[in-house]
Amino acid sequence: MSCLIGAGLLHFAFHLDPHVARSSVHYQEKGVQVKEQRYDVVIVGGGPNGLGIAAYLAKCGVKVCVVESRLEIGGGCETIEPIPGFRIEPHAAYNYAGASPAWEQLELWKYGLRIVPCEVWGTAVSSDCQRATAASRENKEVVREAMKMWGEDVAAQTEAIYSILESPECTEFLRSIYWTPPLPEGYSRDPKDLPWVKAIKKVPLLGQVYDDSWLDMSTYDISNLLTSQEAQKVGICVAAYQSGPNHLSKGMGIVGTAITFLIMHACGVFLGGMHSYAHAVMRCALAHGATFLTNSRVEEIIVESGEAKGVRLADTSPAANKVIWADKAVISNAHVKSTFLELVDAKHLDAAFLQKVKDINLNGGSLFKLDMIVKELPRFKGKAGEFMDKHPALGVVFPIDSMDVLNRHRNAADAECRFPSFDKDEIIMFTVRSSVYDPTRCPPGYHILYNFFPVPVPEYFVDGKENYNKHKDEMVDAMLSMYRKYCTNMGDDNIVAKFPLSPLDSSFRNLGFVGGNWEGIRVCQDQWGENRPLPECARYRTPIDKLYLCNQTSHPGGLALMAVPYNLMHILIEDLDLKPGGWWYPSPYYVSDREVHSGEI
Ligand SMILES: Cc1cc2nc3c(=O)[nH]c(=O)nc-3n(C[C@H](O)[C@H](O)[C@H](O)COP(=O)(O)OP(=O)(O)OC[C@H]3O[C@@H](n4cnc5c(N)ncnc54)[C@H](O)[C@@H]3O)c2cc1C
Repeated sequence: MSCLIGAGLLHFAFHLDPHVARSSVHYQEKGVQVKEQRYDVVIVGGGPNGLGIAAYLAKCGVKVCVVESRLEIGGGCETIEPIPGFRIEPHAAYNYAGASPAWEQLELWKYGLRIVPCEVWGTAVSSDCQRATAASRENKEVVREAMKMWGEDVAAQTEAIYSILESPECTEFLRSIYWTPPLPEGYSRDPKDLPWVKAIKKVPLLGQVYDDSWLDMSTYDISNLLTSQEAQKVGICVAAYQSGPNHLSKGMGIVGTAITFLIMHACGVFLGGMHSYAHAVMRCALAHGATFLTNSRVEEIIVESGEAKGVRLADTSPAANKVIWADKAVISNAHVKSTFLELVDAKHLDAAFLQKVKDINLNGGSLFKLDMIVKELPRFKGKAGEFMDKHPALGVVFPIDSMDVLNRHRNAADAECRFPSFDKDEIIMFTVRSSVYDPTRCPPGYHILYNFFPVPVPEYFVDGKENYNKHKDEMVDAMLSMYRKYCTNMGDDNIVAKFPLSPLDSSFRNLGFVGGNWEGIRVCQDQWGENRPLPECARYRTPIDKLYLCNQTSHPGGLALMAVPYNLMHILIEDLDLKPGGWWYPSPYYVSDREVHSGEI
């Protein structure tokens, strides 16, 4: 009998993980003999960035183990069914990563990823509902029809935006910012040597108006140079504020402006929901031999003599062995604060470094979300409504014509650290309606609305974090009031169900979302590029040897899927002496440490 059980266990272990079965060292735990778990690389967290680096490394032949604390992989790329048949997304909803090299490099279509194109992926509505702008790469006639509501000059400027967007140089420009590792120490910071300056100069129209003074500007400053039309300025600034740096942040104007192109470049939703993206990347990693453990929280990153050696799992992990050794590297997909303040024992780190980690600013990326199931799409009033009924868009933003409203919203959330108020006219609302284009999201006769706007970081909330969620009903009311002001059919008879989610809820849901922040930490000059998250951790290395960061808290932040793993690959190819096949191509702007130290550059 005992023999049979033993053989069964061995078969089970071998089936799950051939590397384990090959290992010779044994552990004795709770009376059961279990094999030592040893991999080349252990990744703490199976969020999109953890999965991405797992797939890249596995494809290079590296033995990888991903350890995820939740029951499911995917981190912020999560899709759930709170009511059977109705899919909602608690965090990420939209793909910003059209320019990512990972689509080809990891061949994600082979692993089930499908993108549904959207005929109209964005509409912005004026405060009087008499005008709507539209954005579409599939159908330019729709764009022209909308732009006539604003006048011929706006229509001409909009045509110009498309000539930028559709040029291959625009893709290169986006890659120079997002899909390029930060520059190494010792490399020139002269404007002419910066990747994004080299790239922007080649972009049609943008290249003609660019000069080096842009490097010190905010998104708002640059929007003033690009257009005279208030709604277009607000559009660029809303895109920046709700997807990256705050539009008034000096020195971040190029990044903020690029976000407008990033959004428009990747027009399409993942069939099935954001989680289908996570699954495709995981399946790619599995196909190349990676191992996954779920329901297994890492409690400690094991450090010996200044080197990361492996991880220790919480007792609650179902894994037989609670220690997993990493021969070559440990990669943390956890938030930078969790990594250094919780997972690495403080005795391995300098007190000054730890203080800097504590001081990292979380501002600017906390969103209040309200998912709703409705029977009919919101019917907007006025001419905007007539247009939108004919051409329903994936995303809708309203109101779009006042920079004052946007500034009041930003002041409330980020400066005064309080919730914005509908009564004081300080809310710009965004909504994503994936069910318009993806029939898998809900049964016919219904739609899912994913509504959001920025709110204060719970940690900085003026009335204290403990009182944060007391304002949830108030925020739901503010969103419903916005709808009722702009639409004719958003009463109780149309709304079937509501699922509010505050940033504080997000941080409970996902260990990675400290502050409920969709960029992890503030996107600003001193937390960007080689300063993100801290200069000591630039280029994904850390003060602990063989410990690397791969979370949105590293450059370039959240949203641009696969940017952090693609960038980290450049560093790991050097440090781990990897030999990827012909499928790999580096960023043309990448500068290696070797080139700088050897004086080649
Ligand atoms: C409200 C909201 C809206 C968003 N909208 C979009 C959008 O439309 N498009 C878009 O692209 N992005 C969006 N984002 C951002 C996107 O979700 C993040 O950029 C992305 O999830 C970051 O990925 P990550 O892998 O760095 O971290 P995470 O997604 O946070 O993943 C980290 C993973 O590590 C795990 N983990 C943490 N600690 C441990 C531990 N100790 N042991 C084991 N596992 C651990 C976590 O459980 C998690 O699965 C949004 C985010 C929010 C909050």
